[in-house]
Amino acid sequence: MAERNRIGVLGDLHSNLSALEATLGLLGAEGVGEILCVGDVVGYGPRPNEVCAILRERNIQAVAGNHDWALLGKLALDYFNPYAREALEWTRGQISRENRDWLESLPLRLDTEEWCLFHGCLPRPEDFDYLQSIPAAEKAFEDFNAPIGFFGHTHLPMTFLRAAEEEALKWHFEPDWTLLRGDRALVNVGSPGQPRDENPLAPALVYSPDSGRVQLLRAPYPIAREQALIRKAGLPTVLGDRLQHGI
Ligand code: ZN
Repeated sequence: MAERNRIGVLGDLHSNLSALEATLGLLGAEGVGEILCVGDVVGYGPRPNEVCAILRERNIQAVAGNHDWALLGKLALDYFNPYAREALEWTRGQISRENRDWLESLPLRLDTEEWCLFHGCLPRPEDFDYLQSIPAAEKAFEDFNAPIGFFGHTHLPMTFLRAAEEEALKWHFEPDWTLLRGDRALVNVGSPGQPRDENPLAPALVYSPDSGRVQLLRAPYPIAREQALIRKAGLPTVLGDRLQHGI
């Protein structure tokens, strides 16, 4: 039997078109069919419309993140630090009607038999809590049925693993591992748009439902180009500076 399509999952894109293009190139070379995005499509970066347009054209299934919701006025701007707020205000002035409508159409979670997709945390994705502890992961596992759930929000790639054979949850940072039958995982796919794991390369996750293999690949991209566009747009320069350090 031929292997079913492998699935690509992208994290917080944050209007970074160069990083998005690099990760899509990587996923294309891997022969990935379906692509998912855990949200925070916009915010921070200089090309919100271009990033939205690619996701729409390629039929990438996405959920809404907190920056997407704030752009739409569904979340108060005082939730954000001053740089994020300034970038969101700038983005509000840039975003096209079509892209705004598309962002408005994004759900907070998507569930299939094979996977679950959300931005921050379950069971209340609209709270945008950070999923970064064992107790939070315990609760999140109870709120979906698929073997694997993908999320983002912290911009730190990592995995919570609920092994069928073991009582206690574990977490790990492995970039290439296999989900065994009966085991379940919650996988933070990292952020191409603004990595914060001290690795400036843009991450892209590949999941193979048949074999259970989970790979976090990293793509180089022209960081200087995004930094120049951030300066040109008048966005806070710190948003460009941090890209080259992955912080
Ligand atoms: Zn984010």
